Parts: sequence; C-alpha cells; structure tokens
Amino acid sequence: MKKSASKSTLAVHAGTRGDTLYGGRVTPVYPAAAYDYEQEVRYPRYFNTPNLMAVAAKMAALENGEGALVFSTGMAAIMTSLFAMVKTGDHVVLQQDLYGGTHHAVVNEFHRFGILYTLVDASDPKNFEKAITKNTRVIYIETPSNPLLKITDIAAVARIASQHKLVSMIDNTFASPVNQNPIDLGIDVVLHSGTKYIGGHGDLMCGVAVSSKEIISQIKGSAMHFGGTPDAHTCSLIERSLKTIVVRVKQQNENAMTLAKFLSSDSRIHRVYYPGLKSHPGHAIAKKQMTGGFGGMVSFEVKKNPDRFLDKLKIIQRAVSLGGVDSTICSSVRTSHAKLTPAERKKAGISDNLLRFSVGIEDAEDLIKDIQQALL
Ligand SMILES: *Cc1c(COP(=O)(O)O)cnc(C)c1O
Repeated sequence: MKKSASKSTLAVHAGTRGDTLYGGRVTPVYPAAAYDYEQEVRYPRYFNTPNLMAVAAKMAALENGEGALVFSTGMAAIMTSLFAMVKTGDHVVLQQDLYGGTHHAVVNEFHRFGILYTLVDASDPKNFEKAITKNTRVIYIETPSNPLLKITDIAAVARIASQHKLVSMIDNTFASPVNQNPIDLGIDVVLHSGTKYIGGHGDLMCGVAVSSKEIISQIKGSAMHFGGTPDAHTCSLIERSLKTIVVRVKQQNENAMTLAKFLSSDSRIHRVYYPGLKSHPGHAIAKKQMTGGFGGMVSFEVKKNPDRFLDKLKIIQRAVSLGGVDSTICSSVRTSHAKLTPAERKKAGISDNLLRFSVGIEDAEDLIKDIQQALL
C-alpha cells in the first residue's frame, strides 16, 4: 500500500499480511512464540512476528512515519521511548500539563536513575527553549492536553528541538492519527495510548511509537529489554479496530462539536473546553495542526451538583479511560486529579465541577437529550 493513498484507504489496507495458504483476505492470527530460526530469529519480544508487524506497518502509514513499534500499553510505549533516549545526567524538558500516568512516572522514576527534567508551561513555545541545558536530550509534549484540552504549538516546539539537535516527542493520544499527524510538523517520535482511539472499543490495551527507521531501531534496542510487547491475539484486534478508525473518529469529531456547541449554549453549564470552539484560547493553532478535526474530547463545568448529574445520565456512562465508540464521562477531581490538594487543583485550573466527556458515536441528539434530562 503506497503512502500516497488517502488515510481512509490506508486504515483499511496498509500492513495487511494476507493468507498465502488459503487466500483469506485478512491477516491470520499467528500466535507462535517459538519459530524455526533457520532463516531469521523470530520472537514476539523482538517485535518481528507477523501480527505485530502488520499493526506497526498500518500505524506507520497512518502517522506518515518510516516505522513503528506496538507495545502492550501506552505507558510501555512512552516510558520505553523516553528511557531509550537518555542516560544518567541527561535532561528532559516536558510540558507541565501531562497525562497523570506520565507525570507520575517522570516524577517517581527519573530521579532514581539520575535523569534530570524540567516541566514547563506549554502555552508559549519559548518556555521549552528557555529550559534547555547543555545536557538536554528530549523535548516532550502532549496536545490536546488532559483534561483542559490545552493546545501546544507542535511545529514551533519541533523547530526548537531541531535547532538544538534534540529528539522531540509527542503524546498524540487525544487527537488520534486521524486528526493530527505530528511527524508532518517536524516531530521525531509520535506516541499513542492505543487503549483509547486506536482500540476504540474500550476492550483492549496497547501503545504505539512511530518515528524514523533510525529512531525506531534505537527504541527497539531498549524495548527488547523492557519487554512491553502485546500478544498476537491483541494485535489482531488492534488491526481490526484500525480499519474503522477514520469513520469512528470522524463521527466522534462531529458529535463532539455538536455537543460542545450545545453545552456552550446551556445556562446550567459554567464553562466548556473544546479546541473546535472559537472561544477556546488554542483554537487558531488547533485549526492549523489538527487537520482532520478537533477530536472527540470535550470538558465542561456544570454550575452545581456534578455527582447528581453523573448519577442521572443514562446513555453516557460514568467511567475513566476514553476514546471508545460509547460515550463516557468522568470527574477529574474524583479520578486523575484526586491526589492533588485543593490548592494544587486550583493552580492547575481543575474545578470540583469539571467533567471530562469522551464523546462516542451514538446519535448526537440522543446524547443531548441524555444531558438535558440529567441537568433537570
Ligand atoms: C491513557 C493515556 C496514557 C496511558 O496509556 P495506557 O494505555 O493506559 O498505558 C498516556 N497518555 C494519554 C494521553 C492517555 O490518555
């Protein structure tokens, strides 16, 4: 499958391995952990078994990268890629608004290995440049961010990284490969929690790293030691999920925009955060870099009684995680930001009434009606 094909076509066809024995049209499941070594030493943890390679090829095609590695979780992809780039004494600049798991991992793991880091306010790309030291190796961003959907200027950060010969990495989970392709904007490594939009049904876990051949081979060197590989059955499910990612995410984009507009117009809602709204401070940059759409995540603050509101919802399910075909919603105070003190939450802009809504592919009118009855 040529890279010049459109994304919808690549999503369906790229990477398919076919069935040379029977002519079946999908990649068969090859569960073997033990392979004959006469031609090549194959082993799932070496990332060179057929189902892993099929998913990697599809993801590389969707993100316009030269290569990809598929991991067992998003955190395996993120931490393996970061650790593959640094050694004791090195320094990493990361944006302050990070997925809770990444933030926790950086704060709790890096210092034990003598890896230094600085967290910066990403609203101005110059803050990344100011934090660079002579030992800096990596700049790491995440946009749209969780849960306030803040937008970081990807091209500007990639330019700074390249001027200083640093590796730039992005967590592209919230946008999905349908809406945003950071490699086209100069980023070196694109990371995903595939548990979200890539799996898309809330029923599997995986992670992905996409990059150049050279960087992928460097990450693979560490990944073979850390061992975060998914098995063939999960890879087969991921491959099937990816065939529908474009139609799923397009529907989620459209629903999220409709819902964000509805929420903005309702007097019982205090504030809405959605990069697709003109009122969002990152809208202009989002429009430039989110070429496929503004995504399926909408955060908002109800004026009162968030717990009662969540209890009353019927279609929209109260749950952590995101990106599935079914709409889910969670309170940030009760989940990702539960361990912060009220003062820390205030500083991070997380109100007690903030809800993070992962919009699914249901009928948008049904979702609006569900919210309306829960607000009564
Ligand atoms: C969920 C998530 C992760 C972690 O992925 P897992 O698959 O849970 O390990 C990382 N980044 C973002 C933005 C996420 O939403």
